[in-house]
Amino acid sequence: MPEPKDLMGILFIIVFIGVIIKYIFKFINWQKELEYRRQINKKQEYNTQTPEELARESEELKKQIKINHKKYYDKLFEGHEFVNKKTTSLDEFIINEYINHYDLHKLAELNNIKLEMYKGWNDLSLELMKELNTTGWNRKVTSIKQKFGELRFYAETERGDIINAYTEKSKTICEICGEPGKFYFGIWDETRCDLHKT
Ligand SMILES: [Zn+2]
Repeated sequence: MPEPKDLMGILFIIVFIGVIIKYIFKFINWQKELEYRRQINKKQEYNTQTPEELARESEELKKQIKINHKKYYDKLFEGHEFVNKKTTSLDEFIINEYINHYDLHKLAELNNIKLEMYKGWNDLSLELMKELNTTGWNRKVTSIKQKFGELRFYAETERGDIINAYTEKSKTICEICGEPGKFYFGIWDETRCDLHKT
């Protein structure tokens, strides 16, 4: 037979575990309730926002993106010289034979976007900019990125044929380093040299 002292110890442990389990359940319920309230609030917000409020929110968001971009580009451009370093608008943006990849980033900044690709396609993009420039391009772009393993340069231009030619060309250039590469079809399509293929 266990001593009464041992029984007290066992009883204490049982009660202790019980209390812990109870608090775990309380915590789970509390989390569920919080989530529920969050959902309700979200719905209410959605329903009660006037068009003006929505517009203001969207403006706020745009402003925030601009601030974030400014920080990113200020850091990127610090200590580097390039043709458009002081350019503040697309109308003033210069495209000549001296532009370098900082100018490409500058073009992205003035269009309020970021490049979404590795630097291996920077030279190709610069060549594309120069060619578009000969057609009187307004320098507007909505996206410069890698998609399905190829360069996608979404610009405001009638000359989609020029852009398509560069998209095709990107499938022969390693996106990482700019050396000749091959297009690999897979879960993630990519264009890579032997060294950088995954
Ligand atoms: Zn490479």
